[in-house]
Amino acid sequence: MGTSTLNPDFERRSLWQATMPSLPDRSGRPLPDSADVVIVGSGYTGINAARELARRGVAVTLLEAEHLGFGASTRNGGIVHAGYKWGPRELIARYGDDTGRALYRETLDGYQTVKRLIAEEAIDCAFREVGHLELAYAPAHVRELEHARDSLAFMGVEATMLQRGRMREEIGSGAYFGALVVPESGLLHPGRYFAGLAAAADRAGADLHERVRARTIRRQADGRFVVETERGAILASDVLVATNGYTDGAAPTLRRRIIPIGSYIIASEPLPEALAHELSPSGRSFFDTKNFLYYWHVSADRRMVFGGRASFLPTSIERTAAILHRGLLEVHPQLAGHRIDYAWGGNVGFTFDRMPHVGRTPDGVAYAMGCCGTGVALMTHLGTKVGEWLAGGEPPALSRLSFPLVPAPYEGRPWFLPLVGEWFRLQDRLAARSRG
Ligand SMILES: Cc1cc2nc3c(=O)[nH]c(=O)nc-3n(C[C@H](O)[C@H](O)[C@H](O)COP(=O)(O)OP(=O)(O)OC[C@H]3O[C@@H](n4cnc5c(N)ncnc54)[C@H](O)[C@@H]3O)c2cc1C
Repeated sequence: MGTSTLNPDFERRSLWQATMPSLPDRSGRPLPDSADVVIVGSGYTGINAARELARRGVAVTLLEAEHLGFGASTRNGGIVHAGYKWGPRELIARYGDDTGRALYRETLDGYQTVKRLIAEEAIDCAFREVGHLELAYAPAHVRELEHARDSLAFMGVEATMLQRGRMREEIGSGAYFGALVVPESGLLHPGRYFAGLAAAADRAGADLHERVRARTIRRQADGRFVVETERGAILASDVLVATNGYTDGAAPTLRRRIIPIGSYIIASEPLPEALAHELSPSGRSFFDTKNFLYYWHVSADRRMVFGGRASFLPTSIERTAAILHRGLLEVHPQLAGHRIDYAWGGNVGFTFDRMPHVGRTPDGVAYAMGCCGTGVALMTHLGTKVGEWLAGGEPPALSRLSFPLVPAPYEGRPWFLPLVGEWFRLQDRLAARSRG
């Protein structure tokens, strides 16, 4: 050990993609001329909607531009938890009592949906219900976490404060001023989870295609849709766009509402058992309260998986890996000298009101997207709920919200992000000064 310099020979790919079972090759399969529903995008949203529709006897065709699970769903931090940017009380203040509560219940249901699917489909994805800690980066953030605890209690969600003097019981770091401990959340291997969901959709009878990009979606006079691809057109009674942070020109109305922001992760070599235990004695996951937040956990195979926003500028994996590695050693200096084996990034779909959105465009195209960084549970759930909805059931509570435009000239290239990033960085610097 000794040196804290990042080794340059890490793999530039997602740990989860590198260690998940390989899926059958579904490129080049003949496309149907028509389907009841065409789904665009194969992450947790699209694949769960496909599974649910197929189970209900709907003829569903799913199109993925790259390989199945290419997007955030096989690149994320694997932290399965409920919640939005806004807590229950803020949701009620913004949307009224009835809608605010319904929205929060939807995210709580999301967590249960993941557990149910893993059990129902016997998905082997190292799921463990270990809980998480939200860590106060500055002294003033302790008060904010206390507010968050009270707000969660309002919806019956258990969460307790951990004072600074007792932090070592939960984390091998002295970098934080206190924490909110939330027991009801878990961790999983995102790639193995995705592979299990894709197999379940396949078994249910969904028609899954990869390496087929939807180019345009057009509504005909008879109300049906034409989905154009480079390999021909498909006629559909309904279309669901499930492209989140990868939304492209196939859905221009949605692209004007979704802001793709990069999130990045590094993963260490497997760590000695005693060190892994020191870092996270209860095996929990962690988030801090910075704007350029870090999130991390020790994986089932004892790697430190450490993620963060790292940059709002166009960047490279080399640069974000170096930024994250510096951050990691500030939090856990005991990891100096341990190799980084993997570094990667992916797109998170943000929205102007920082809420996910489900609904139909004025043309009638259905959508579910805008996870704002928290989507393992919620997008799994929304995919399932949208499947039920398109098969004739009730729409999700989130469909009550209208999907705001980004209030700037914007066609999918977020030119304003560096400015937003500088503002966030300034706030983090001010918080850092108060750390003493
Ligand atoms: C680095 C990172 C870490 C994260 N960590 C966490 C975490 O720990 N916990 C958590 O809850 N959430 C986390 N998230 C968020 C979570 O991963 C996402 O919310 C979730 O995976 C989104 O699923 P999705 O199906 O909506 O979109 P995605 O999985 O992104 O899938 C969208 C798909 O659409 C495809 N596509 C786009 N355009 C077209 C087209 N025209 N035709 C065909 N296909 C198209 C793309 O290729 C892509 O595969 C993280 C995200 C990232 C990037």
